[in-house]
Amino acid sequence: MSTGLLRDFDPEVADALREEAVRENEQIILIASENYVSDTVLSVQGSVMTNKYAEGYPSKRYYGGCENVDRVEELTVRRAKEIFGAEHCNVQPHSGTSANLAVYLTVLKPGDAILGMALSHGGHLSHGAGVNISGQLYQPHTYGVSRETGRIDYDEVRRIAHAVRPKMIIAGASAYSRIIDFEAFQEIADEVGAYLLADIAHIAGLIAAGLHPNPAPYADFVTTTTHKTLRGPRGGLIFCKGKYAKAIDRTIFPGLQGGPMMHTIAGKAVALREAKMPEFREYQAQVIRNAQAMADELISLGDAIVSGGTDNHLMLVDLRGRGITGDQAEKALGRAGISLNKNVIPFDEAPPAVTSGIRVGTPIITTRGMKEDDARIVAGFIDRVLRHIDSEEVIREVQEAVRSHCRRFPVYTDRLD
Ligand code: PLP
Repeated sequence: MSTGLLRDFDPEVADALREEAVRENEQIILIASENYVSDTVLSVQGSVMTNKYAEGYPSKRYYGGCENVDRVEELTVRRAKEIFGAEHCNVQPHSGTSANLAVYLTVLKPGDAILGMALSHGGHLSHGAGVNISGQLYQPHTYGVSRETGRIDYDEVRRIAHAVRPKMIIAGASAYSRIIDFEAFQEIADEVGAYLLADIAHIAGLIAAGLHPNPAPYADFVTTTTHKTLRGPRGGLIFCKGKYAKAIDRTIFPGLQGGPMMHTIAGKAVALREAKMPEFREYQAQVIRNAQAMADELISLGDAIVSGGTDNHLMLVDLRGRGITGDQAEKALGRAGISLNKNVIPFDEAPPAVTSGIRVGTPIITTRGMKEDDARIVAGFIDRVLRHIDSEEVIREVQEAVRSHCRRFPVYTDRLD
């Protein structure tokens, strides 16, 4: 067994960890699906609970010695149900994708029709994309956003739902900057006799803070990741009506997974406790204010934002007006220390590996303490790089400005040496 300091025992891994802490400190990270967890969540993830097998559920385990992990799992379930106002919660899914798959496997049969948002309009792979098991096991149909408004057209969703009669409708997105009207989705699902799955992975933190409508009171199923705006460890949650509770639990274990990751579930518990604090609501409100400030600034610098702005933590920037691709932008910004991802925009003619857009999100800069003025400064950095995309000199200048701005908002400083 290795003892002592990691850097003595395994300098290669130690070096990669240190470099990652440096990167997270020195770069402006605008990846909308990422966040920086608290030191508390981080330490719980590296705790003794990583050692424990706990197949089953609290007080119904297939292993002895589960008294402490039982307490943690019960706490996590209680906190999650309370925050989201749900009848049941399974806290064991290893990821958002496996949470979604568990819902499908619980109530659908292979070949059933499902209706989700098109990947090319902001949906997620696990909502029926052909390259994902969800698009291979089921018959996928899609809805998208309107070409004019960049927003979901609920009349169009209704029309498609009536035409294809899906067994399940999936509401939720990975790249959609407007409020999602889950109630409208529920009405449509009721009209066609479909289950409604609301995938709130991106906006779970906003919902927990009461800043986005919550689908849990009416959707049959709600899934989320815990590591995006919710700012917990990497993992998933499934909420459902009480009548599906047993079936969902059986699908997760023994259907789909073996032992739950109890260190991660403990991390989820701590993140959910953080989510109940008044500071969390203020944090989420600031995430939105920062995204809106950044969108306004980018628009004033001449950029087009899909749908004209944002109600949440992210925006899609349409780069066609600048005559550059998402791929070029991602690479140049990356060299300047600004990390974000290229993203297809609705009705994009560029292929997915190239794209005409970038997705920009504010959860991480807000966790670091940045406010609206900083968001505008960051928009200025982006603009400068994109205007001089071939100038190594400008890129170096912006990289220095990014580093100096980041020094005002230090993170994980104890992990830098
Ligand atoms: N659902 C949505 C809407 C997402 O955006 C994502 C991830 O980006 C997922 C599900 C999948 O989560 P995971 O990467 O944990 O499988």
